[in-house]
Amino acid sequence: MSFRDKQLTEKEKAGILRAAEAVKQINGGKRQRVFVRTFGCQQNEADSEKILGMAVNMGYVPTEDADIADLIVINTCAVREHAEKKALSVIGQYKHCKRRKPELVIAVCGCMVSQLHRTDELKNKYPYVDFTFGTSDIHLFPQLLEERLKGGKRSFTLPPDEPAVAENIPIHRLSSYRAWVSIMYGCNNFCSYCIVPYVRGRERSRCPEEVIKEVRGLVEAGYKEITLLGQNVNSYGRDCSFDCNFSELLRRLDKIDGEWILRFMTSHPKDASFELIDVIAGSKHIAHQFHLPAQSGSDPVLKKMNRVYTREKYMEIMNYIKAKMPDCVITTDIIVGFPGETDEDFEKTLDLLSSVRYDMVFSFIYSPRKGTPAASMEQVPEEVKGVRMKKLLDLQTEIASELSAPYGGRRLRVLCCGRSQTDEGMLEGRTEGNKTVLFEGDASLEGRFVDVEVTQAGAFVLRGKLI
Ligand code: SF4
Repeated sequence: MSFRDKQLTEKEKAGILRAAEAVKQINGGKRQRVFVRTFGCQQNEADSEKILGMAVNMGYVPTEDADIADLIVINTCAVREHAEKKALSVIGQYKHCKRRKPELVIAVCGCMVSQLHRTDELKNKYPYVDFTFGTSDIHLFPQLLEERLKGGKRSFTLPPDEPAVAENIPIHRLSSYRAWVSIMYGCNNFCSYCIVPYVRGRERSRCPEEVIKEVRGLVEAGYKEITLLGQNVNSYGRDCSFDCNFSELLRRLDKIDGEWILRFMTSHPKDASFELIDVIAGSKHIAHQFHLPAQSGSDPVLKKMNRVYTREKYMEIMNYIKAKMPDCVITTDIIVGFPGETDEDFEKTLDLLSSVRYDMVFSFIYSPRKGTPAASMEQVPEEVKGVRMKKLLDLQTEIASELSAPYGGRRLRVLCCGRSQTDEGMLEGRTEGNKTVLFEGDASLEGRFVDVEVTQAGAFVLRGKLI
């Protein structure tokens, strides 16, 4: 399927605009409020900003209060069974809102509803849900809303076989200085524990000109931090004929002048190249921060996970990053207790942590995900998983403390991100390496780069004073 075939047709684009106008007519200019609840990852947060953008474009006003909303949209996650159960219980709570306000419209979207069994469940057991749409059908939101407001039947769309890449969807960003920019959707990797390829479809990249236009517009509008999003950004452009891989896209973006930082997530080790690391090392704006999910330090486990790289290949990349960018902040994801993981396998994972010495490890206890191959493999007992997780966290806290200690007394350039959610009266900032820094100061500094001298270097949080 060529790149062109993946774009919305002019007819589809016209349909979206026509529906948006129709919804405005139906609401007759009345002040209607929209409430969007988001579960899951940064990609879902970015999708919710598009849903809000389309709603605002149809005359709705965002509200944080579901009780006064005229339109409620729940953007769901399916990464683990638990995430789905949580979303379903929250959807259940909105039953009362509908009883109080029968004209209220409730829509459910995201990864959970890209699965037939969940869509059927919503259809049969949640009669107050008006319509659903999957991750690759966000652009259908205006039409589905129009049909429902016109008294149409409830509708439950399932993902198309060949999803399109919809450009020029209005975006209502929740921050005025940090922005998400999706560069591609879907994933072709089929790691044996992961549901994403089944709910987000095959990889489809946006064309580089559209990405560059969006990032340039954000920088010119004063945005300070831009994060490129994709399930596997390293394979950007591979599904299309345009001659621009991820390294080349970063090179072109780095040419945009201004005081701003560029981040990206998520990388896959099998597609991480020396070329990519050279581009980051030699850049002006790309953060010296690398998140490279290892998941395990054992080759037999990596094989069962279908990760398609070996520990040796992974270490090659790690050593190259450290050689090229000694100041780089390196983080990873680790799954503990993957089916078949032996004590020996786990020791190899601990050894990987000691070899790489990550600044931060996002660790997860494996839980079977219905619909993935790993769910039917022989499971590790829960108590064993718990013991291993404790060992891993203890080791990582030790390493992170040692790596943080040299930050003491250093002066750091920090992006002020406003009031801390954890420490009353403190402001929270992010270093170029995305480390958290807490400091005292006036809230008006939010969205600006400031200089902070580190006075306390904790394992996971630095504290300092404003200079
Ligand atoms: S790379 Fe693997 S873990 Fe990541 S989204 Fe794709 S299938 Fe899931």
